[in-house]
Amino acid sequence: MLWPHARFRRPRNVEQQQRVADARRASPESERWLELLDAALGESDHSAAWNAAVPEPAADRPVKAPLLARGEITVDGRAVRGWVRRLLARAAPASSRRIDGVPLLEAALDQDDARLDAVAAAAGAEPNVVRVVAQMAALPLLQACGRQLAGALPATWWEGYCPLCGAWPVLAEYAGLERQRRLRCGRCGTAWAVPLLRCAFCDETHHENLGYLEPEGAEEMRKVELCHTCKGYLKGLATVRPLAPWALLLDDLSTVHLDVAALERGYQRPARPGYALETRVTARPRAALFGFGRSRPRAGV
Ligand SMILES: [Zn+2]
Ligand SMILES: [Zn+2]
Repeated sequence: MLWPHARFRRPRNVEQQQRVADARRASPESERWLELLDAALGESDHSAAWNAAVPEPAADRPVKAPLLARGEITVDGRAVRGWVRRLLARAAPASSRRIDGVPLLEAALDQDDARLDAVAAAAGAEPNVVRVVAQMAALPLLQACGRQLAGALPATWWEGYCPLCGAWPVLAEYAGLERQRRLRCGRCGTAWAVPLLRCAFCDETHHENLGYLEPEGAEEMRKVELCHTCKGYLKGLATVRPLAPWALLLDDLSTVHLDVAALERGYQRPARPGYALETRVTARPRAALFGFGRSRPRAGV
């Protein structure tokens, strides 16, 4: 065997790496964001650790609550803190040791900006940087939940927020000749079918209150859904195949000019989260990871 350690390497998805490299060239102003996204996508490949943290859906969650609502999530505390510290070291090095990754992960899952801002303030860090780090910190777990809980999703779901994690959709896909509309979550990658004439944000169904912005030329596959009632907008894309979960945020970045067009016309994405999850994230005691009350010896100790 020429390469005895080769089995420990995890070859990254080639298409994914290519798309990230393309995005870096096309959007140099988003380099820092892309660096964090790239790290989060790489971390998502380490799926065994994150798969182990995927919770059972809570039995007592309210009607119309996403699967992760009131989820009791037990994580490997050392792994989560190390992961968040690595992200912070890239984005906010001065505060990387002052922020506990476990409560940060919980606030990120819940999309609780007020809690994230409090974490940032306590650590003397820039709130917007902490919000982005938190978004990326939660991505590997949310993508693992998207993969593992797909079979538990309700057969029909007409709410505008993600049936798995409660986020607003980042994209509407129109699939096939009949143009079936599927909303896509940029966090967990979940897809759910919702009728074409229904605002994702306020449930408006009157066609005279719903419209489109339609870019011309090469972008004929794209449009922006507009709701005149709540002034919300959602980017849309005609697709043959659904985008891979990891590709959704890259697609969102590459179409930021459509966001600008909608914002210039007075439309917005809702500031509030689709559904506040109220998860509880706790760190599993280290000894319990390996049974028998023993800790695994640490390298070099
Ligand atoms: Zn989701
Ligand atoms: Zn609306």
